[in-house]
Amino acid sequence: MFYSDNGSTAVEVALKMAIQYHHNNGAPKRRLLAFRNAYHGDTFGAMSVSDRSVFTKAFDQYLFDVTFLELPTADNLKALFAQVDQLAEDTAAFIFEPLLQGAVGMIVYDAASLEVLLQHCRRKGILLIADEIFTGFGRTGKDFAMQHLQTTPDIICLSKGLTGGAIALGVTTCTRHIYDAFLSENKLKTLFHGHSFTANPLACTAALASLELFVQPACLANRQRVAAKHQQFAGWLRDCGVVKQVRQLGTLLAFEVITNGADSYTNELAAAIHRFFREQQVMIRPLGNTIYILPPTAS
Ligand SMILES: *Cc1c(COP(=O)(O)O)cnc(C)c1O
Repeated sequence: MFYSDNGSTAVEVALKMAIQYHHNNGAPKRRLLAFRNAYHGDTFGAMSVSDRSVFTKAFDQYLFDVTFLELPTADNLKALFAQVDQLAEDTAAFIFEPLLQGAVGMIVYDAASLEVLLQHCRRKGILLIADEIFTGFGRTGKDFAMQHLQTTPDIICLSKGLTGGAIALGVTTCTRHIYDAFLSENKLKTLFHGHSFTANPLACTAALASLELFVQPACLANRQRVAAKHQQFAGWLRDCGVVKQVRQLGTLLAFEVITNGADSYTNELAAAIHRFFREQQVMIRPLGNTIYILPPTAS
């Protein structure tokens, strides 16, 4: 477990762990893989593994090269395998948001295809970094999204729900296998990364308190209640005629309001949606014309 300050830094640490793992083993690898439309944070390493978008536009020329793969489906797996095979030898790691891409617009994708792709990457010696900053702590109906799959990641990034959103804290976990590549008398093998407020005691106390709530049966029941309500509402939404692509995964419900413009973060309906809900005294944060409902579930 490596402590840092927030989600973006948890991702930075994960990337550094993965790159230095190969370096410490005497076989450095240059390339990183990520998904199209990925979002992994706002610091430079995290921006680099995020797809180029309005969020990164002013900085694109400063970001390092990353290969972005299409989201896996039953139809494109063969093509993805071929792409991975071509790059595998020089690829350190593959970072992905399991099952659900959050910031880009709550895109839910196929777990079975992800499983097959991850197994292939592992066979090729590519480290798997699961960014569960958004999906972790019960959001997808299991404690962690990776529990929907058989494959276990080498590295996991956590933040957000780690403290129940109360205070900033990031955690990057790794397997014993990764850890052992750093365990040495040789100081050059150290993971040289440490923020002043790493493992901040107040934040850790909040995380422990939040975890205590998280494992309570009442809290699980609450997540199940939210998911059931979402399911019910999703049925109504699908028939209402003004929205599309209604998707529900655990405590997340998301859909697009149909407009004449493109579905995107810059869709101008966002301001009107925001105003409408505020008048109803509901605080939501539309991503362009995408509306998502993601209530807190700890109480
Ligand atoms: C929010 C988020 C981040 C960044 O976390 P911050 O704490 O906002 O820096 C990284 N990855 C994912 C998947 C996120 O949802």
